[in-house]
Amino acid sequence: MIKKEINIAFEDFGSIEELNQSDKNLCLEAVKAMENSHSPYSKFKVGVVVKLASGKIVYGSNQENVAYPSGLCAERVALFTVGANYPDDKIISIAITAKTEQFELLKPVTPCGACLQVIAEYEQKQKDEVEVLLYCIDGAIWKTKGVKSFLPFMFVEDRLGIG
Ligand SMILES: [Zn+2]
Repeated sequence: MIKKEINIAFEDFGSIEELNQSDKNLCLEAVKAMENSHSPYSKFKVGVVVKLASGKIVYGSNQENVAYPSGLCAERVALFTVGANYPDDKIISIAITAKTEQFELLKPVTPCGACLQVIAEYEQKQKDEVEVLLYCIDGAIWKTKGVKSFLPFMFVEDRLGIG
């Protein structure tokens, strides 16, 4: 038996003021994206913006449904919009934020495993990593280049299709 360890790396910014102007703008756009969240059940709003190489910005927000599993996370709403409408435009960054009236969010909200897996697939497809910005309003921002820091054991199998 060999014991192995994986270390992950990300940047931790104390506040939005520490970000460069471009990243700061993306985080503020993610806040705007939350306005269209349809979350009457969880009352937990999530907003996402995806920045493409062309400069285009695609918005996403969580869309819930009374038949709960029919809803979709904000990240996948935005990413699948990109895949469906701008398939050849490279994804440069994704910024994610959240808010709720139910409790105070003390740290950035991280994407669920399914959304991380979807980001991983688009990284494979475009053969380049996506910059991920996780923005806690009035708190820290976590930033990483490439989704592998958050999902080191992502499922990737080139022989199944993309390669
Ligand atoms: Zn998700």
